[in-house]
Amino acid sequence: MSTWLVTGGSRGIGRAVVDHVTAAGDTVATFSRSAPARTPAHPERVFEVKADVTDSESVRRGVDTVLERYGSIDVVVNSAGVHHGGRVDALDRSAWDEVVSTNLTGAFDVCRAVVPVLRPGAAIVNVGAVVGFRGFPGDVAYGSAKAGLSGLTQVLSVELAPKGIRVNLVVPGFVDTDMTAGLTQKARERIVDTIPAGRTGRPEEIAEVIAAVARSTYMTGATVPVDGGLLATFGGGRGSGVVPDSNGTGN
Ligand code: NAP
Repeated sequence: MSTWLVTGGSRGIGRAVVDHVTAAGDTVATFSRSAPARTPAHPERVFEVKADVTDSESVRRGVDTVLERYGSIDVVVNSAGVHHGGRVDALDRSAWDEVVSTNLTGAFDVCRAVVPVLRPGAAIVNVGAVVGFRGFPGDVAYGSAKAGLSGLTQVLSVELAPKGIRVNLVVPGFVDTDMTAGLTQKARERIVDTIPAGRTGRPEEIAEVIAAVARSTYMTGATVPVDGGLLATFGGGRGSGVVPDSNGTGN
């Protein structure tokens, strides 16, 4: 049985990872700033730690707390994320800072804190986004942070391969979570129209791929989309080809 650390494990995709891996008998520690809204499916295998990934000291304390409880960590999933939409001439600098410090620097700090204690066979899975690979208007901060996370994944996969640690990036498309819940019905329909599969994804569908990637013993440095075909299109998908500005989509 393995011990997982899932940042952003209180809600959404991270929470689905918690439920998926605890159903298989593994134990999980989570990082989030606030208490989870719902009890996990297997509470006896979950240790909820209050930790803010934008604060490197909080991350370090959080990792120490997990190690005191479980003794070791086998898999790390960097799922903590925030999204603020806005074009370059409209986005507040504070919004840029929050997005980059959570989605990119937060993942870096978690990796820095765990790498010294990870053993051969361990895995890190970072959670990217389609907009880290495509120019999506209105997503300058989020797209930049997720592109950076892709770079971080590739560099760490090479740096850590000699230690037997694998590092991969799973790239969700548009998934129904709190991050995307604020969209208007109209904006949502326009986005769905760009997805070849013709529907949004469920957190469980992303979680099962994250778990499979973490367990795959020969995969490292890989980018694995789980996006209903979004990355495969030119942005037109099944619809008009008109890409709407980001409006809290987070995909
Ligand atoms: P979500 O439902 O909004 O959950 C975000 C999680 O991150 C929560 O557990 C939140 O807990 C945690 N978090 C945020 N800031 C944090 C911080 N500073 N320190 C610690 N935890 C923090 O979002 P989601 O949709 O599950 O997103 C999960 C990941 O998937 C993110 O990296 C996101 O960018 C990525 N993603 C999502 C979509 C999508 O369509 N939903 C698409 C592509 C990629 P607290 O707020 O309590 O801290």
